[in-house]
Amino acid sequence: MQQNPHPPTRRVGQKLDAIIIGSGIGGLVTATQLAAKGAQVLVLEKYVIPGGSAGYFERQGYRFDVGASMIFGFGHKGTTNLLTRALQAVNMSLPTIPDPVQIHYHLPNNLDIKVDRNYEQFLQNLTAYFTHEEQGIRRFYDECWQVFNCLNRIELLSLEEPRYLLRVFSQNPLACLGLAKYLPCNVGDIARRYIKDPLLLKFIDIECYCWSVVPADMTPMINAGMVFSDRHYGGVNYPQGGVGQIAQKLVQGLEAVGGKIKYQARVIKILTRRGKAVGVELADGSVYYARRIVSNATRWDTFNKLLPEKMKPVNEKKWQQRYQKSPSFLSLHMGVEAKVLPEGTDCHHILLESWEQMADVEGTIFVSIPTLLDPDLATPGHHIIHAFTPHWISEWQGLSAKEYATKKEEAAQRVIERLEKIFPGLNDGLDYLEVGTPRTHRRFLGREDGTYGPIPRRKLWGLLGMPFNRTAIPGLYCVGDSTFPGQGLNAVAFSGFACAHRIAVDLGL
Ligand SMILES: Cc1cc2nc3c(=O)[nH]c(=O)nc-3n(C[C@H](O)[C@H](O)[C@H](O)COP(=O)(O)OP(=O)(O)OC[C@H]3O[C@@H](n4cnc5c(N)ncnc54)[C@H](O)[C@@H]3O)c2cc1C
Repeated sequence: MQQNPHPPTRRVGQKLDAIIIGSGIGGLVTATQLAAKGAQVLVLEKYVIPGGSAGYFERQGYRFDVGASMIFGFGHKGTTNLLTRALQAVNMSLPTIPDPVQIHYHLPNNLDIKVDRNYEQFLQNLTAYFTHEEQGIRRFYDECWQVFNCLNRIELLSLEEPRYLLRVFSQNPLACLGLAKYLPCNVGDIARRYIKDPLLLKFIDIECYCWSVVPADMTPMINAGMVFSDRHYGGVNYPQGGVGQIAQKLVQGLEAVGGKIKYQARVIKILTRRGKAVGVELADGSVYYARRIVSNATRWDTFNKLLPEKMKPVNEKKWQQRYQKSPSFLSLHMGVEAKVLPEGTDCHHILLESWEQMADVEGTIFVSIPTLLDPDLATPGHHIIHAFTPHWISEWQGLSAKEYATKKEEAAQRVIERLEKIFPGLNDGLDYLEVGTPRTHRRFLGREDGTYGPIPRRKLWGLLGMPFNRTAIPGLYCVGDSTFPGQGLNAVAFSGFACAHRIAVDLGL
């Protein structure tokens, strides 16, 4: 645990209902939901702006998303449009731009496949390569729709709240039974029921890997049902002005309903009294108390750093044995001349040259070009390209400043060379380049080892192993991507709705 040079002497303000450590989307949805119910809420964020992995930064006329840019949850119908709903709860909304293609895959065996927003068109694109599997393809993706249709029928709140479960079950018994059936399932098992072609099964692997960072066998079916169907239902929609707008608007809404946020407020300790979480201590020595404490930091940061080792609950130790930190990323934030992008280029790409390397360091390259949807994020005649590929922090430690800079430059050059295959002339058209490493992710996103999030160490029972919001420490809750149902903005929004719901019930709000 970090040492605090200031003794914790300054007690600040009156007692709050809830303190939220961190202003990632999970933290902000928890805060806005609680504040909208009348709770006294304070968000403490160590960085200078909100959003965490959904934040942004500006350089030389470019506005870059730090991480997420393929955004689900902005639909206008059903119940799974959780970003739309989270904003609405605090009287906010955001204009969004529909993305006509979720991903353009550039894969081994010359597979060049676009996931069209239109479901039938996507099935046709895929079937064109696998005519002999036409029926299997339809049956597999149709089964994903069954999961989605169950989810999209019920109000998504805390699965830890028995009265809610009873209400939802009595209103939608079939949808609930459907979800219960899929909860322990992984995608690989379902895919193999319908699909035999090994190459097509590899395609299903990368369909999962590109958001779960594990292959189909380790990807929960519930999450796949959401992603593989919502992309054709609510669709992928980019927030005008950049992804950072989501957090900015949530903060605006939070403050309008009486909640508060404090930046450059790094929590170094969760304070406990007789085993119960009662407050937090900041790096500047100030101390805040609340009836409930919520951590939006990862579980590793929460239980390994903010609490003494002797307080780590047994179930957290067990969880850390079942789940490990996924790698972080090497990120290239590029400003390029518009001529680099051929006419008709899509916003999101996946590039992989060898199936064996899908999950390796620098195996899969993820690409986002948000200026194709919102040109105002760059100066006229230019585009933003964000390319990222997995990297472990261990490879970036113990380097001198010069070694670190050289390693960054060499790694960036390797990525650019590979991207030349889909964007010929990229190197010559580069106007700006900033390279982030796992160290950058750790520092600016406040995530241990810069991890993208938890991944199962081995095949588990679908989503059954992911913890909900309550922890074994009374008064302490977790929210965000190391809670059910995992990574992604819409997923952490779900976690935020659930966390706020459970706390509201616990506080009698
Ligand atoms: C490169 C990249 C690309 C991605 N692409 C997509 C995508 O296209 N679509 C998608 O849906 N998802 C994507 N994701 C995943 C998505 O961004 C995350 O799952 C999600 O944003 C995590 O939200 P969170 O609420 O868990 O918190 P985080 O975003 O991790 O935020 C936590 C916040 O807590 C703060 N904090 C931490 N510790 C403390 C402390 N001690 N004191 C005070 N504050 C603290 C941090 O500064 C941070 O602001 C991507 C992620 C990355 C890294």
